[in-house]
Amino acid sequence: MGNSRITAPSALLYARCSRCGEEYSPDVAESLCEKCKGVLLMHYDYRQIAEEVSKESLERRIPSVWKYSELLPITEKPSIVSLGEGGTHVHECRRLMEQLRVKRILVKDETTNPTASFVDRGSTVVVSKAIESGSSSVCCGATGNLGASLSAYAAKAGLESMIFLPKMLDLGKLYQMIVCGAKVELTSDYVAATVRAERFSRHSFLVTPYNPYFMEGEKTTGYEIVEQMGWRLPDRIIVPMGNGGHISMIWKALTEFSELGFIDKVNTRLTGIQAAGAAPIVDAYSRGDSVVVDAGKVETLALDIGIESPSAGDLALNAIRSSGGTCATVTDREILEAARLLAKSEGIFAEPAAASTIAGLKKMMEAGSIDRDEEVLCVITGAGLKDPVTARRFVKKVRAVETVIRRVEDRRLTTRLGPTKLRILEIVSTQEAYGYQIKKELEEQFQISVKVPVVYQHLKELETLNLVRRSSVREVGGKPERHYYTLTEKGRATAKSLGTYRG
Ligand SMILES: [Zn+2]
Repeated sequence: MGNSRITAPSALLYARCSRCGEEYSPDVAESLCEKCKGVLLMHYDYRQIAEEVSKESLERRIPSVWKYSELLPITEKPSIVSLGEGGTHVHECRRLMEQLRVKRILVKDETTNPTASFVDRGSTVVVSKAIESGSSSVCCGATGNLGASLSAYAAKAGLESMIFLPKMLDLGKLYQMIVCGAKVELTSDYVAATVRAERFSRHSFLVTPYNPYFMEGEKTTGYEIVEQMGWRLPDRIIVPMGNGGHISMIWKALTEFSELGFIDKVNTRLTGIQAAGAAPIVDAYSRGDSVVVDAGKVETLALDIGIESPSAGDLALNAIRSSGGTCATVTDREILEAARLLAKSEGIFAEPAAASTIAGLKKMMEAGSIDRDEEVLCVITGAGLKDPVTARRFVKKVRAVETVIRRVEDRRLTTRLGPTKLRILEIVSTQEAYGYQIKKELEEQFQISVKVPVVYQHLKELETLNLVRRSSVREVGGKPERHYYTLTEKGRATAKSLGTYRG
């Protein structure tokens, strides 16, 4: 659905280095400039595109990344791999406007994308490119959202996926990767993950945040904002910055729409937010530099924007300065407060990286660097459930909820252990016991009839779960030796919480 209008974008001309201007054929442009390591950007024949599409023809198409296919670099229509990405809503945030006392706040809610982050916009294009180039697998070094998204699109396309990840990661994203069949390897940090991926790319199509195909997908956020606002722009657009690719590509989208005559000029201030514990782009901006220096250490719970060495940092600085925007940092505490505020007032549960835009808006308004008369649009890049550990922090202080969660967790353990193991735990909680003895107790006390080897199988599994341990071996009058079992510390705690402790 929605792909019926895709036409071959013959207007794609070349990829050009954003630093030195070197031009490359779009077919070979999958990484950085060979001469200066600058990011490559795709260029099109905009006059030709203006003849093919108009505001009216775009409005008639189904909302999706691929409605802008003439402005995307995939030439083979059957290669397109789509899960229904893009076309996300722009909401007016009335309650948030009242609380923050700003004239108008809008959010672009990217949490409703197929894998719950804006990254799907890039994945659909880059995986389509992998298919077009005949690859059978994709790989990447990722912080989380990219890995989760790429795994899903690879699964849809029937490609294998290999994801290298730093140990500090959001569990929800890891679950997404595993369930989609990705192979995952953990590395010490993000830089190590990218190095491993690079090495692996001899056997696989490498996806990076600076891959020009991936970045072209990211720009569709910008197209949608313009179109959804009725072919105009808000006073300000606030975007989280990790690698700086998204804000750079939104800027590219706006200048392209201006080039095509869909808007007069780009009259919005692009404003980037970084976590205080990882802010190399904001640091460069504050110094007045156009080159971003590596952050060194990264410390933030907003893992998806905690980037030490932003690949599109200089492009992001250019987007901010060219649009007359600004940038700022926010602390983890400000991010968490903002996430709670956004969820409570607007019903959108954002992950920390995404909530950083709301935190930034609040902070800059209080500091007077954003005017209360402005119309501000915040991009909410990913969903809160991707990071269950942080999500859990929101309910920690609510005792009733804490009890409910514990009961659910206990029930899951009860289901996993099954009735026989629970009874064995109960028997062992009263005394040291051996296999035959446990078999007799199961029969007499609980009317559970099982053979001795089955009892030992259960004991072995309980041992693996570290709930019981062998306490002693005894020989009684020439009979085979008896192995006695007792509860471990964890076994005692578990038996207590499940109500099967009688010791
Ligand atoms: Zn170059």
